[in-house]
Amino acid sequence: MKNHSNFSAPTLAIAAVAAFAFLSACGQREPDTRMQSFSWPAMGTVAEFSMRTDGVTAERAQKLATNAFSLVETNLSVFVADSAVSRLNKGETIRLASDSPLANVARFARETAEASGGAFDPTVNPLMRAWGFRGGTPSVPSGITLSNALESVGWRRLSIGSAASEETIISAGGAELDFGAIAKGFAVDLAYEKLVASGFTDFLINLGGNIRVCGSPEPGRTDWNIAVRDPSGRHPPSPLPRPLRGGEAVATSGSYERFVEIEGHRYSHIIDPRTGIPVDNGLGSVSVIAPTAMMADAYSTTLFVLGREAGAAFLSAYPSCTAVFIGQ
Ligand code: AMP
Ligand code: MG
Repeated sequence: MKNHSNFSAPTLAIAAVAAFAFLSACGQREPDTRMQSFSWPAMGTVAEFSMRTDGVTAERAQKLATNAFSLVETNLSVFVADSAVSRLNKGETIRLASDSPLANVARFARETAEASGGAFDPTVNPLMRAWGFRGGTPSVPSGITLSNALESVGWRRLSIGSAASEETIISAGGAELDFGAIAKGFAVDLAYEKLVASGFTDFLINLGGNIRVCGSPEPGRTDWNIAVRDPSGRHPPSPLPRPLRGGEAVATSGSYERFVEIEGHRYSHIIDPRTGIPVDNGLGSVSVIAPTAMMADAYSTTLFVLGREAGAAFLSAYPSCTAVFIGQ
């Protein structure tokens, strides 16, 4: 089946999920509430749901999460011809509810772009194409191809009204939107909210390394121990600097997950919008712990572009966030 997700790149080597949870196996367990963990494909990656529950409840949770992921994908995928983002990329201006998924994602993407001095940029799609991340044979773009692509990149073109009014108007301003660095995190938050609203507690949801936890992993414990994979694969996963508390999220961005290979050299799927060149700063991955999965997702990509020093300086403005930088 053809993959229509713009959150996946079928031509690229894709490693498994970047981060995964280790749930403690110790402690007293009720016979019918064992920690159940199951996974399924979603948004071009793997979704995982873990909860101490029976099978029927788990199935209901999966359905809720799947619906949330589909909603985000049908709105934000550039491969769905009539998705809102595809229409924006064709030059349409769209009026939509101010608290709709697209409005939320676009607003936060723009804010992150501004705060990061353009290291995060939701208009990188022409650069992704230039390097072969959107189909065709990957090759190093010529200077002219790169400067043409760079000319059409620029987060300032994305215009979106304030969250204060009920409705808002959004336009890409001639740019090409790509919310690949933030949409999965948003989708996890949406699934999380739907699950909580339906009475679910004490669970973990993971979409391709975008993790959010709710409640506690087992009676008597409030902390979730999460480990991140070593990007080189040479070392075992290492624990985050601190466990997650219920409600918190963590996301990982890495160059080892998705890349194109050109003449034996691997080029990261995260591109520095200021130069047009895939990031190659010695980092293998960056994980960010944050109060929401959208924030963790956006900031882990941002920090991957900024590198250790500028990344740490960026994050100091967000005391609720913690970052882990791992070398290649
Ligand atoms: P993530 O895996 O969350 O770090 O997101 C990476 C994806 O975001 C890429 O596959 C692109 O679709 C997009 N992207 C690449 N570079 C950037 C960037 N500098 N800012 C925002 N999005 C980017
Ligand atoms: Mg991201």
